[in-house]
Amino acid sequence: MCIKTAVASVSGDRCISPVHRAKRDAPLWSWQNCAMTLSARPLRACIDLDALRHNYRLARQLAPATRALAVIKANGYGHGAVAVARALAPEADGFAVACVDEALELRESGIQNPILLLEGSFSPDEIGQVDRAQLSMVVHSSQQLQWVLAARPSRRLDCWIKLDSGMHRVGFAPEDFASVHARFAACPHVGALVAMTHFARADEPEHPYTDQQLAVFGQALAGLRLPRSLANSAAILAWPQAHGDWTRPGIMLYGVSPLPDGHPLTADLRPVMSLESALIAIRDLLPGDAVGYGGRFVCDRPLRIGVAAVGYADGYPRHARDGTPVAVNGQRTRLIGRVSMDMITLDLTGIDAHIGDPVELWGRLIPVNAVAQASDTIAYQLFTGIGRRVSRSYVSSER
Ligand SMILES: *Cc1c(COP(=O)(O)O)cnc(C)c1O
Repeated sequence: MCIKTAVASVSGDRCISPVHRAKRDAPLWSWQNCAMTLSARPLRACIDLDALRHNYRLARQLAPATRALAVIKANGYGHGAVAVARALAPEADGFAVACVDEALELRESGIQNPILLLEGSFSPDEIGQVDRAQLSMVVHSSQQLQWVLAARPSRRLDCWIKLDSGMHRVGFAPEDFASVHARFAACPHVGALVAMTHFARADEPEHPYTDQQLAVFGQALAGLRLPRSLANSAAILAWPQAHGDWTRPGIMLYGVSPLPDGHPLTADLRPVMSLESALIAIRDLLPGDAVGYGGRFVCDRPLRIGVAAVGYADGYPRHARDGTPVAVNGQRTRLIGRVSMDMITLDLTGIDAHIGDPVELWGRLIPVNAVAQASDTIAYQLFTGIGRRVSRSYVSSER
């Protein structure tokens, strides 16, 4: 079975390009033997749905007394929201997205799990869509509260009341929380309520700010019997006292740790996405030769250079420095020279490499966090910045 479209799942017989077929008996290069579009630009994001399920289960195990909303906003952090939701639907307690359009895409593809809108509605009219699509919504402002109270929905609306415990972005002030809650509780068309907040610094396990936010949240809710939701991935991993009743794992589902390198609990995460391309040119350069735009990299000795078909238009970060890790044929090497729109240049000196050979930009061999660090960004931005012309192929051992 060959993959032509962005959303498809692959199992059993694989479809590999002629170039790669010739190398079938060579040492296993591809992490997943992901399907490859025939006769196309050799660039794709391979998504391992088994790893995704493993990571969701890990999030659950780390907070065993809680339920977990899988956060799949921004097209499942660039992994394809529908495919991610379908893979997790049989076991997910619910999903969280950023807006109604993202939620409707899931409903239209048959997802029936609870879906939470993390920023609630952006206009009073949207409450009708929330009602019809049976969504739950965050309510973070008195304006949104008015919209909810004024709505005439066909069923009771489930609301997550957001408290600003220190992020200072959205949410009700702690001193207003009890009265806001009372207005929800008195409204006949409001259904289940959850109290939620969001951490600003949970990815800094040594920093006291998360404890302060926890204390603010606890005080604001004193005496209220409400289910609580606080924990993003970092808090699930590093702040067990903040697990509450509902967790909201995002980045960890995709196999990436939000914590500083080497945190023990993150060793069990499995990378989900592998961004792979291939070598399209190889050349030998002499000392003094400069590579690419601006001549940023100048050879200090004879070097063999490879060109891979991926660039910043695909989401590979233009700010990646010389030395950013990359794997060719499973061997680690370095980016050299400035990233172009459609191509990057690599150091192949001392590496067994031929035109057509696979290049992993990130995935199992090259942690996406390493690329992010070398480009002054975070994995979240790399994932969500993957360009439209990158096709996604899915690997799964289940159906
Ligand atoms: C995006 C988001 C999350 C998930 O955060 P991660 O760091 O990806 O785990 C959780 N809660 C809210 C409110 C969010 O917006």
